[in-house]
Amino acid sequence: MLPYARPSITEAELAEVEECLRSGWLATGPRTERFEARLAARLGVPHALATTSGTAALHLALLAAGVGPGDEVVTTPMTWVATANVILHAGARPVFVDVEPETLNLDARRVEPALTPRTRAILPVHFAGLPCDLDPLLELARARGLALVEDAAHALGASYKGRPIGAVGDLTMFSFHPAKNLTTGEGGAVTTACDERAARIRRLRYHGIEQSPQSRFGGRGPAAYEAVEAGFKYNMSDLQAAIGLHQLDRLDERNARRRELAAAYRERLAPLPHVEPLGTAPYEHEHAWHLMVVRVDPDALRGERDDVIQALREVGVGAGVHFVPLHLQALYRGVADPADLPAATEAHRRIVTLPLFPDMADRDVDFVVDRLAKVLANQAR
Ligand SMILES: *Cc1c(COP(=O)(O)O)cnc(C)c1O
Repeated sequence: MLPYARPSITEAELAEVEECLRSGWLATGPRTERFEARLAARLGVPHALATTSGTAALHLALLAAGVGPGDEVVTTPMTWVATANVILHAGARPVFVDVEPETLNLDARRVEPALTPRTRAILPVHFAGLPCDLDPLLELARARGLALVEDAAHALGASYKGRPIGAVGDLTMFSFHPAKNLTTGEGGAVTTACDERAARIRRLRYHGIEQSPQSRFGGRGPAAYEAVEAGFKYNMSDLQAAIGLHQLDRLDERNARRRELAAAYRERLAPLPHVEPLGTAPYEHEHAWHLMVVRVDPDALRGERDDVIQALREVGVGAGVHFVPLHLQALYRGVADPADLPAATEAHRRIVTLPLFPDMADRDVDFVVDRLAKVLANQAR
């Protein structure tokens, strides 16, 4: 079975992990520091803080943005559950705004009407790696005193109008889960230009402990630490960073390969009836091509979208769904009426994720498109 995603691991990662194990230093240490410094330099942002997961990174980003009990965070229903779960963990409430039907990115025009005096942050997701239209969101955030916190789990290496994703909004989260464009096994990071927010995240990710020279016991000596708030255990380990260092070396090369494969898909899919890739954006951007999402037309088929996926799996294509919209899942039913989110609700009848990862061969694209063409022909009304 050709999976929808697969990490690319080389001898360099294997050797660095072995060296890390032999060094005796496995927890947060020199490799994490190097990984953070190189990630920040790559994105052109002053701070990159590495964590145990993207979910942990987003939780910390929201807390550093000042999101707390009673607040609202405006976000998209077309995302992984983690995006909204961490809003709940911060004691706040997610407010879902519909997506653009062509890109499945948060529809910037619908954000303003959703703002209330309780809104604290806007949380867009760069769906599948296509940067959202950030300028209108930034403008709105500035005008209303809100934080722009980006879920860039799909968008490492992407850029918006010449600016790298990670250096645009107030706080940006990345995920290094094995399916993502860069992996550390599990892991994540927050980037920010704000020194105070970076310091708060550093403290919160390690038990709420302050180690600065300003702490009561000073910055030196064996007892030079002091817990100042109830933090978390979200710090990345050097074993994870050992993988990440070499993944970072090859990020651009691998994203270029994703772009090539996505172009091949789009060309091969164009003549097929009843299926269409997602649309693109009119503004200048670089797509990270994390996922290859297409839309099938259930009205032209005898079965449903799930029948297409099932049939693909039976012939060796590991197709998937990204994502079941949050407002249709038990935890978030009742947060929004599906009728108020027509584009996300309709997308759920149509979306299919096809295999896309850098180690795929050109002939794998041909294989997937041939199988998809046969499945659609078999299921056509
Ligand atoms: C993967 C993902 C996350 C969570 O990242 P983890 O590293 O798995 O915790 C959050 N949001 C989106 C959109 C994701 O795809």
